[in-house]
Amino acid sequence: MDNEFKELTRDARKYIAAEDCEDYSCSRPAPIPPPASVPASAPATVRKTDTPAPEPCYSAPAEEIKADQPVVEAKPVLPAETSIPEPKPQSPAITCSVPQQWDKEAEMEKIRQEVSGCQKCQLGLTRLNPAFGVGNLCAKVMFIGEGPGYEEDHRGEPFVGKAGQLLDKILSAMGLSREQVYIANIVKCHPMITPNPNLRGNDRPPYPEEMATCRPYLDRQIAIVKPQFIVALGGVASKALVPGAKSLSSVRGRVIELPNEIFGLREPVKLIATYHPAALLRNPNWKKDTWEDMKLLMREMGLPMPSKQS
Ligand code: SF4
Ligand code: URA
Repeated sequence: MDNEFKELTRDARKYIAAEDCEDYSCSRPAPIPPPASVPASAPATVRKTDTPAPEPCYSAPAEEIKADQPVVEAKPVLPAETSIPEPKPQSPAITCSVPQQWDKEAEMEKIRQEVSGCQKCQLGLTRLNPAFGVGNLCAKVMFIGEGPGYEEDHRGEPFVGKAGQLLDKILSAMGLSREQVYIANIVKCHPMITPNPNLRGNDRPPYPEEMATCRPYLDRQIAIVKPQFIVALGGVASKALVPGAKSLSSVRGRVIELPNEIFGLREPVKLIATYHPAALLRNPNWKKDTWEDMKLLMREMGLPMPSKQS
């Protein structure tokens, strides 16, 4: 009993110490306020997690794009070291027609070109390649991290390093693939501690002014994809995306309705904040809560749930 209590206290202390520090080492700068470009006055509606799941809102008309993914057998067995289940059969999570997708591609390409020559903030001076964004322009859900790291800078794509591999695993447990969602970052260029892109472990969170400068690109990407759902990965992305959010723990475990005017969309966007995959690599204990967050997302999206899980 005594030992159990000590263990709980230790876990709680670890959690509190790392809560605002979940992506990089604890030498990172002080917590970052939301960027100036997000209207601080815009109210965010917070809803409890236990609302009943809505009816599935997706029914694919014949001309809709189908994800060309092989169906994998569901194995809802939890591996010993993680609470994220094995892959489940892939589900549709795409909402627009082929002609709509072509328009979106042209629009997105314009932004990609702008970003590829962008030097609007200091990150543009040291990056090798902007990690612009990747995935389906008709995705119903967008996953947003804080900024590229070493691997992403070298390959010019978000979430392709170790954290990205874990994100793929999470998606796959949900029955989704990278091709069915859209993945982006708050800043497109690698924030480095020292200006050397060939140094590993040289990552830092983006500064508020870097996030504010880069933010219009992300807002335009969101306006093109028009996701119904956003998953904010980690505290930095959560604080940047949820007006007034003070920490990840203050917004996690709930569905937050962001007013549509934030992204210039017709409908409000539902945001779910969860741990950054890099944080999960350091603190596997958080995988269970992350999976709870992803189940909440699946219920909200009307995606089929794995048959057996914790
Ligand atoms: Fe431009 Fe964004 Fe890169 Fe800064 S981080 S240089 S604003 S693309
Ligand atoms: N961490 C992020 O926030 N984004 C990436 O693309 C990779 C790691």
